[in-house]
Amino acid sequence: MTELTKTLELKLVEPNAHKRGKLQETRKAYQKALQDAFNARCTTQTEANDVVVNYDLSGYAKNALKKYVPQLITTYNASELYDDHPVRFTNEGLRLDHKPENAIEWYVKIPHHEDYHLWMPAQPNPEQRGWLEALNAGDATMGESRLFERDGTWYLHVTATRNVEDSSGESAEERTPIGVDIGEASLVTVCHRDEHGSPTAPKLWDNEGKTVRRLRKSYFTATRRLQIRGSERIAESFGDDLWNQIDDVFHRVTREVVEYAESVENPVLVLEDLTYIRESMNYGDFMNRRLHGWEFAKLHAQIRYKAVEKGIPVETVNPRNTSKECHACGEVGHRPRQATFKCTNNACWMGEYQADVNGAINIADRYLSGESHSRKHTGGNDSAEDGGRLTAPQDSQADATQQETLGTYAS
Ligand SMILES: [Zn+2]
Repeated sequence: MTELTKTLELKLVEPNAHKRGKLQETRKAYQKALQDAFNARCTTQTEANDVVVNYDLSGYAKNALKKYVPQLITTYNASELYDDHPVRFTNEGLRLDHKPENAIEWYVKIPHHEDYHLWMPAQPNPEQRGWLEALNAGDATMGESRLFERDGTWYLHVTATRNVEDSSGESAEERTPIGVDIGEASLVTVCHRDEHGSPTAPKLWDNEGKTVRRLRKSYFTATRRLQIRGSERIAESFGDDLWNQIDDVFHRVTREVVEYAESVENPVLVLEDLTYIRESMNYGDFMNRRLHGWEFAKLHAQIRYKAVEKGIPVETVNPRNTSKECHACGEVGHRPRQATFKCTNNACWMGEYQADVNGAINIADRYLSGESHSRKHTGGNDSAEDGGRLTAPQDSQADATQQETLGTYAS
């Protein structure tokens, strides 16, 4: 078991003038309190408390200052402050919420004054989606967070921690690829080949596919009706409830997918690369397209983080034609019915096959054919999940924070 700690990067999406003003107020009060406590050479939490207690800040920011100032003075032996300190909040100061029906899906609650906070839409680093899903599900713990501004844009960096099992040291060739197909009829389908190369143990979550379609549909009919009646608030809480139900289904299915992988020797879960999926989708309806994108991204992120928790690697492959090719001969066939794939190659023994299972085997086979896209490894056990790409600047205190984290949690 290894404890992983990660700094999650969120960009606050275009706060309006009112919210921008509130963020600036918080920063100003925080920096003044920090400066005062620093000038007073506070070396204990009690001394720092006596100074910062008078400021118009949330308890989360004050508590962060009480911890931070004595460390700044005793650990780093600093004689002067950098001018550009992020505002720190202790854990639990921040809340995360997910509203997939909105154009910006993620929301963060930022403490402002005592008993007053701001809910703001936030764009996470897309590579870190698995971490957000884990936090949202309570499978990761939130630590300290830091709020800062760069070139007129506000960012939040959140420290998150979770436990993962160490990956076994099998080489890539010795692994058994499990194809994971995400679809409409069957929400998820998995399949792999046995030691003789025959497709085996297909598993379909088609009831869950039905459930999700029903929930999605009742969301649209009901919220439209409620909005026509002007009941926006009821529509919103009704919507939240339905999205939570969908999320519950997703969490159960993704847990079962990882359990399936655990039952296979030296597994690797193979997913379709989402960037290709977005390009190849041609649903007419914008909302429909966006929702499918959301469902793909959410299911993938949940599978990823749960697999990493169990030490199971995850790879992605190019999804081109995975639903159209015959897994036995590679010929492009057709689907006479949604659930049926028919091979049109007369020389092929296969004939008809369950379409989602055919897709899952094709996805698994692309791993073996060397078409998998191993993500950029950043080192550590987290490599299966996170690339090195950054969407937001790092705050200037990142190094100090890492040391501080060690200092705080090691004792
Ligand atoms: Zn065939």
